[in-house]
Amino acid sequence: MKSYRPQEIVVEPGVEESPIYRNVKRAFPDLPFLSSAETGVLTPPDFGAAKRRLFLQRHRGEFLKKCPGSDGQVCCNYFVINFASNCPMDCSYCYLQEYLGSNPALKVFTNVGDLIAEAGEMLEKHRKFFFRIGTGEITDSLALDPYIGFSAEVIPFFAEQPNALLELKTKSDCVDGLLGIDPKERVVVSWSMNPQRVVDADEHDTASLDERIAAAKRCQAAGYKLGFHFDPMVEYDGWEQDYRNMVERLFAAVDFRRVAWISMGVLRTTPALKRAMRSRFPSSRLPTGEQILCPDGKLRYFQPLRVSMYRKMLAWIRAAAPTTFVYLCMESREVWEQVFGFIPACEKELGSRMTESVAL
Ligand code: SF4
Repeated sequence: MKSYRPQEIVVEPGVEESPIYRNVKRAFPDLPFLSSAETGVLTPPDFGAAKRRLFLQRHRGEFLKKCPGSDGQVCCNYFVINFASNCPMDCSYCYLQEYLGSNPALKVFTNVGDLIAEAGEMLEKHRKFFFRIGTGEITDSLALDPYIGFSAEVIPFFAEQPNALLELKTKSDCVDGLLGIDPKERVVVSWSMNPQRVVDADEHDTASLDERIAAAKRCQAAGYKLGFHFDPMVEYDGWEQDYRNMVERLFAAVDFRRVAWISMGVLRTTPALKRAMRSRFPSSRLPTGEQILCPDGKLRYFQPLRVSMYRKMLAWIRAAAPTTFVYLCMESREVWEQVFGFIPACEKELGSRMTESVAL
């Protein structure tokens, strides 16, 4: 994938002793490091330009929170840690264009020690509860890893926890920093997957499909569990053949028995996100397709089309990975029923099924 290179780095005074700062300094020795005391913290108003100005600062407030999910959709009881905000890659459909529209700065939080202390306290306080925790809610989990070394800071901590599983979700192939660390069955590295046609058209600066598969193979060989998110699935002429080929190629390369979970979700937008997409990516065809407004305020394909896409995809997945746990991301109870023939009774049930599928 294309390597990331910001134009400048803005540093909050006092973070220079952190490992993240030292790693970034080592990665970009020739770039200007400016002090936010002098530049201020104003970010370029343009979303694309904001990605090229990297802020290193402390995070004030809590790192760990429950995934907000989506109103009225089946939730999977997931927790998120925000170690960074915004992403160096640039997918046309990225919801951060709306979610971070008024605060698009690409920030990395340097006080990882506070993050670990907060997570440790929470995990110890609730030892009877099993936490699934992800870091990819408002950033990509690994795209900045070669420059900041975040994974090497947190994986050893999570590897020792009896009641947590850390998921690192990415569209990159930045896994070198993970391969020498023993995850002790406590870390799932997962990829958002799309056919190369979708990657080329709408997932700018991400790893190619081949690069993602190769990176997944390397992580599996290094002892990591894997996850795959076929999300967002996009409908176009010939999608069936592309998605089927992708599933077959993927499971010819990795062992499905060590895949923790697979999710499926169709393209979701909102009216505001569509406006951002049209303005930033005028050649993308994604905002032109027909979608309907769902009760959670998101636009999705018509329900019969979604059900048909999920059923086909599920059949291809089942043929290649017969026992891997598959779930739907941000979908209604009606769609669950039609695709799987059951609806999880509650979020706890879905969360427990996912934990069991990892066979911890
Ligand atoms: S990889 Fe994820 S976070 Fe990054 S631009 Fe694409 S959709 Fe957004």
